[in-house]
Amino acid sequence: HKHTILFSACLLGRPVRYNGTDLLQQHPIIEQWRRQDYLISICPEVSGGLDTPRAAAEIQAGSGASVLAGSSRIMTHTGSDVTEAFIAGAEKTLAFAQQHHVVMAILTERSPSCGSQQIYNGQFNHSTTNERGVTAELLQQHQIKIFNQHQLVEAHDWHQQYLRNL
Ligand code: SF4
Repeated sequence: HKHTILFSACLLGRPVRYNGTDLLQQHPIIEQWRRQDYLISICPEVSGGLDTPRAAAEIQAGSGASVLAGSSRIMTHTGSDVTEAFIAGAEKTLAFAQQHHVVMAILTERSPSCGSQQIYNGQFNHSTTNERGVTAELLQQHQIKIFNQHQLVEAHDWHQQYLRNL
């Protein structure tokens, strides 16, 4: 078992965001994890079958938890229902994480898939709400510790503590 760390693929430089860009993070902690061979990455939305670029989508009046429970939908700003692709992507990400013995994930904040503390509110007006996205919720439900890209020091401390407690 490798005690692997899962990253949202866009944070490691893959241009898989809805608008075809990446969100590459460069940080000594990430370099250290890479040297120690802890890193794997996946894009839940691409894994769920969505194209890049793709229309921006937001959870409609709810959270990742309510989407997984079947009580909220995810719509694009052009009015397409993409709920099933987002759920499929979350499930594929969980399976990938479990296969690779992931203990912790660093996920892109504010994404309707990867957001762990904030997501957009569903009205496409750039306002956020304090909820998790679909993939972040599913990983958390399966005991994978979740951080965002602004919490690398905290995540590094958590991982060190985890290894010490083995
Ligand atoms: Fe990045 Fe997650 Fe969006 Fe994929 S689904 S582009 S990994 S934030």
